[in-house]
Formats: sequence, structure tokens, C-alpha cells
Amino acid sequence: MKQDEILQRRDKIISRLQLKPDLGEGLEEAARILKKYLKERHMNSTPEREFILWTVYHVDTPFDVDALHELVCQYRARVCRTTVYNNLMLFAEAGVVSRFQPFPNGTQYFEKNIRQKPHGYQVCRRCGSIKPLSLSEVTPIVHSQLNKTFHLSQFCLYALGLCKTCYNTERREVKEHDRQWQADKESKSKQKQKQKQKRSNKKK
Ligand SMILES: [Zn+2]
Repeated sequence: MKQDEILQRRDKIISRLQLKPDLGEGLEEAARILKKYLKERHMNSTPEREFILWTVYHVDTPFDVDALHELVCQYRARVCRTTVYNNLMLFAEAGVVSRFQPFPNGTQYFEKNIRQKPHGYQVCRRCGSIKPLSLSEVTPIVHSQLNKTFHLSQFCLYALGLCKTCYNTERREVKEHDRQWQADKESKSKQKQKQKQKRSNKKK
């Protein structure tokens, strides 16, 4: 993917990420789990950490580190990107945040994980747009296939593909590529014919 396409994708994600104060379901439980997790590892909670967790539970779309960092900075200055990243990784280890990586070698996405209904996403591999998928029919099937002794902590499903706009763009690009390839082929063939003609004229 070209650099400007990546930036466009990032802009889209950032513009979609908004703080919604009426959300927050699962936050209390997540804070309790995190507190226990930190205590067991002799780590402390910090105001930054608490605020980042609060923010995660007040957005309703998956996000990457940069989008969350930008959002956190709108409300709380002097939180660096590394702090946001390290906390997200810690939240993921503690099980209060889930993460997925839909793009090969690409961006990691995160989202809140406590008291969330099973859901999936369709992700456009070109522009990065993410739309929720209902998994109400799929979830019982997955549960029935799980080993009885397996303790499920996260169930993540996403479908990677192309949205309608990107599908049409790619088709246009493929057609243009084919047209160019055909034109090059014809031009090379004409050149060959000319050279052949020249050689046969010289022999005469
Ligand atoms: Zn797209």
C-alpha cells in the first residue's frame, strides 16, 4: 500500500474515533480486573493508565494506537504515544482489551473487551474502513466446537476484503493495467516486425 493511501486510511480511522460520554459499560469491571492484575505483578496504577482505560471504554469502534493517542491528547496533554501503546498491550494481557491485526505486517487494532456482545468486523484491506458484523448465529456454533476444558477469554472474527468503492477502484486499475500491458505488447510486436522487415530489405 502506498504511503498516501496509508495516511488516508489513518485519517479515516481518526476522524471516526470520538469520545462518547454515555458509553462506559464494563468499565468498572475492567478496572477491577486490571487492578487485580497489577497488584499480582506489584505494579501501580497511574492517573494516565486510568484515563487511557476510561477512554477505551468510551469509544464504540476499534482503533489503532495513533487514533487513541490523538484522542487521549485532546483531553489530557503530556501523554506520549509510547505510554498509550504500552498501556494498551498491558490491557490486552490483562484481558480487558482485545486486539487484532487484520492487515499482514500492518496496524494492530484494539477495542474494549469486557461485557461486549460477541461481534465481528468486515475490514476493507484497502481503505481500512471497519463495519460491525452480527455474530449471533455464528457464536453458538463456535462455542459448540470449543474443547469443554477451554476457557474462552476473547472471540475475534473479522472478514477481510474490499468495500464497494475500493472494489470498483481496483477493477478500474486492473483494467487500466491490462490495457497498458496489451498496448505495450502490440508496440513491441510492431517494432519486431519493422526490424524483421529492415533485415529482409538489406538481404535483398
Ligand atoms: Zn475500502
